[in-house]
Amino acid sequence: MIDRKSITQCPLCGSNSIEHVWADHKSKIRGMAYNVPQTICHTCKEVLLGPDSLAVIQTYQEKEKLAA
Ligand SMILES: [Zn+2]
Repeated sequence: MIDRKSITQCPLCGSNSIEHVWADHKSKIRGMAYNVPQTICHTCKEVLLGPDSLAVIQTYQEKEKLAA
């Protein structure tokens, strides 16, 4: 998997108007929204997740398991 932080251009549209942010990402599997680090493209609105994003989602899911 690619290192998200090394991205300086949107892989979809080639725009360099991208930003590394923390924002809600809605899980496709469970419909839960998690606050995770992600890269967004302001031009085509693509949202890119990296290994660090997935690691944060896993942390949330582990917490939910413990709470259940
Ligand atoms: Zn783009």
